Amino acid sequence: MPEDRICPHCKVKLQPWVGPPETGWGEILVCNNNECTFYRCSKTDIQHKDEDNSLGCRYAEDPDNGYKSFNLLAWHKI
Ligand SMILES: [Zn+2]
Repeated sequence: MPEDRICPHCKVKLQPWVGPPETGWGEILVCNNNECTFYRCSKTDIQHKDEDNSLGCRYAEDPDNGYKSFNLLAWHKI
């Protein structure tokens, strides 16, 4: 079992999530907190944002890569 990892932005425990097979990620850890400051701020960074296409970046870590953090592009409703 992977150790508990905490989002550095909102201090919420990261949730395991298995990426789509084509990504080759395997299981990653994701911050699913909709109030996360990282997530909320990311909304304004995305160029093609509109009401129907509300993409954001969630904070994520890859356990297979030394818990390297990266931005997981995600729809707001997961
Ligand atoms: Zn967070």
